[in-house]
Amino acid sequence: MKQELAHSSACWKKERHYQGIAASPGIVEGLLVLHSALEQRMPLRQIQTNEIATEMERFKKALQATREDLLEVKRSLLPALKSDEITLFDAHLLVLEDAALMKEVFDLLQEERLNIEHVFSTVVQRFCENLSKKESLYLRERVVDIKDVSGRILNHLLGSVSSRKNSSSASMIIVSTTLTPSDALMVRHERKVAFATETGSQTSHAAILSRAFGIPAVVGLRRIMAELKEGEPAILDGYHGLLIINPSAQTRRSYKKMQLEQQHLDDDLKKIRQLPATTQDGCRITLSANMELPQELDDILESGAEGIGLYRTEFLYVNRRTPPTEEEQYEVLATIAKRTYPHNAIIRTFDIGGDKPIYCSSLNKEANPFLGCRGIRLALLYKDMFKTQLRAILRASIFGNLSMMYPMISGIEELREANAILHEVKEELRKEHLPFEEEMEVGMMIEVPSAAMVADLLAREVSFFSIGTNDLIQYLTSVDRGNEVISYLYNPVHPGVVRLLKRVVDAAHAAKIWVGVCGELAGDLLFTPLLLGLGVDELSTSAILLPRIRKAIQSLHLSSCKELVEEMLHNESATKNYTRCVALAQQEYGALLTTRYQEKKYAL
Ligand code: PEP
Ligand code: MG
Repeated sequence: MKQELAHSSACWKKERHYQGIAASPGIVEGLLVLHSALEQRMPLRQIQTNEIATEMERFKKALQATREDLLEVKRSLLPALKSDEITLFDAHLLVLEDAALMKEVFDLLQEERLNIEHVFSTVVQRFCENLSKKESLYLRERVVDIKDVSGRILNHLLGSVSSRKNSSSASMIIVSTTLTPSDALMVRHERKVAFATETGSQTSHAAILSRAFGIPAVVGLRRIMAELKEGEPAILDGYHGLLIINPSAQTRRSYKKMQLEQQHLDDDLKKIRQLPATTQDGCRITLSANMELPQELDDILESGAEGIGLYRTEFLYVNRRTPPTEEEQYEVLATIAKRTYPHNAIIRTFDIGGDKPIYCSSLNKEANPFLGCRGIRLALLYKDMFKTQLRAILRASIFGNLSMMYPMISGIEELREANAILHEVKEELRKEHLPFEEEMEVGMMIEVPSAAMVADLLAREVSFFSIGTNDLIQYLTSVDRGNEVISYLYNPVHPGVVRLLKRVVDAAHAAKIWVGVCGELAGDLLFTPLLLGLGVDELSTSAILLPRIRKAIQSLHLSSCKELVEEMLHNESATKNYTRCVALAQQEYGALLTTRYQEKKYAL
């Protein structure tokens, strides 16, 4: 009803289209919820002395309402929540009791006599600025919690849609500057929700999390917030990366039709989910799923994945004060091993750092976190934390078919150092008579260009390679993977990228080990011909994307893909490579392609 009214009152308004980056598939029609009230300009109003008490009362009510929201979400999610997620909610609840923060609000209200929204947002900004300058990483990272909770408090003060329960039949399209893991966690059980963010790209972790939770998302909608109004009717098109405000009746009809078509396609693909991913000319590709949180396991098994090609274990560490214990990790990993058996599950040792910082290390703020103490570098520095995880992985290995791999290896010394620690841990477990799978395969990610260049040397000392194209392309082409402004330069078909990928695949095969791709490229239908033609043995991607990738592989001939790559290796132009690759995709499985084919002008 409410939705109908919104539509009828908006029908005279002009339809507006905003083009962003398609981050997670799906279509949602609903009302806009501007999430980050902190980012908005606060209404400013001078108040009288006798209004101070009223403003303070409003503030207390907003605090109480926020507390109730958080408790309700926590209660409703409790059965599915892991301890780290519970800690996150508790951290948010603690912000509401932060005496220093509250005192500052009261003092400033007395002093400036401005409306409470304005006072509160000023205090929060100051508070966060001060915390950001602190030495301690723990204090610096509290900024995320404080901003998150303060946004909710402000939404209550401003009476926005997001502060009300979503009791109406309208779906919510949550628009924010960035998407935090906690935002995604809060709404992941809501089916009627979509995300639109100003920042981010297809490979940013916000996009990866949206796909993991099956939430349609468009990212990289630069500076859009200022042009939107809370409660405006909209359609979010996660296939084409579009946000449409005030959609006309005709637009709404054509989206209903598209939604139905996609639904039929998904239903058809579901029927063939147990069929192997084999090309027309008989080349069998292993199709596995990427996992960020163990709660994704049901969807992964449902998708017909042949195991897990990448479990990003660092998500066990984020948003908590202390690292997970050995027992905690052991339990999670044992469950994964049991549930995925007889398939393989590849556990990646924590890739903390970059855009996945954690509270539980005292690392200093870095000028270039993606080039800093990240992945295996951090593991070698925090050896005890690394050993705890290795013990948990090894002990859980007896319950199924687990493998493990290291992230961010840049050369042979690092690999050997990591393996030496693994060896040490195995010795300790033997002494303690704790069983583990002696033959567990150990592989590494190829995501640092220097490692790719010496792939032949590394291949002799591991059981498999998994290519992390998200980082490999970022580092090779010097393009920040999360920066929407230069995302057009993030280019998988740059001749330099194609040549390096070929070098890695050939090095693996020469050493008789298998090689997979677990970066987001593995789930991008436009580039499936490239990956097959390069000769990769496994593709691992978000469960939600797997059925279409399976169908694409089944539609292709390996011989045509090989010819394509042969040509690409000699082409000088990335644009030509893109055109050729997409043309083959369109020819063989055009009906699967929802991504709009755009002529990309890549730099040579
Ligand atoms: C990658 O870099 O491609 C990868 C899979 O790792 P992450 O996205 O977690 O950095
Ligand atoms: Mg990576």
